[in-house]
Amino acid sequence: MNQKIIIAIDGPAGSGKSTTARIVAKRLNYIYIDTGAMYRAVTLAWLKSGLELDEQNVNNIVDNITINLIQGEQQQIVLLNNEDITQEIRKPEITKFVSPISAMGYIRKKMVAQQREMGKFGGVVMDGRDIGTVVFPKAELKIFLIANAEERAKRRLKELSLVGINQSFDEILQSIVQRDQYDSSRDISPLSKADDAIELDTTNITIDEQCNFIIDRALKIIERFNKFCG
Ligand code: C5P
Repeated sequence: MNQKIIIAIDGPAGSGKSTTARIVAKRLNYIYIDTGAMYRAVTLAWLKSGLELDEQNVNNIVDNITINLIQGEQQQIVLLNNEDITQEIRKPEITKFVSPISAMGYIRKKMVAQQREMGKFGGVVMDGRDIGTVVFPKAELKIFLIANAEERAKRRLKELSLVGINQSFDEILQSIVQRDQYDSSRDISPLSKADDAIELDTTNITIDEQCNFIIDRALKIIERFNKFCG
């Protein structure tokens, strides 16, 4: 039987995690899971509630919503209470509040439990901030993507304009730097590279090159796994 591994891709905002994870998953016939979308979905649910940004309010909200990630042809479809919110969660007002919400302990506990459930049979490429450190610390392949902030802002600008969201380069750059700072310094599961993750600087390489690099390593691990498991 072909063994299915877990590939964890972590890194700061705009480092190319989602694009890379999606392509790698497609080429390996694996499931792609963008965990940032789940924290964005919680943020949207809170924004829609009109309640204050208070941990107890957000905890109550998360107990009363369902978040589902569905594998679409071109992208992951995100459902909040069965409503398609795939595009809406990319809006700047969601990006603005997602870091404080994702720093809340109970929210992380719920999201991590759901992520572990989704990945428990392997055959997944999961991207986020804490996949290799917390969600799947035993993932067979861990990648930590980095790129300089200006390059990441340039990429985000392009991605956002493709979905009709217009923000200036400076606004995006500022939001990326702030989010990195918040995500890296929070108490629970901060953004950090797992000791056994491979760091890949994507500033000057193409998407194809970074995907090939990861697939190459994944195939070697899968081959070893298959031999070992007979
Ligand atoms: O990946 P994306 O930029 O969509 O993630 C949005 C936010 O969700 C991040 O800035 C971070 O605060 C949070 N996040 C997280 N843990 C993850 C994935 C995302 O805290 N595994």
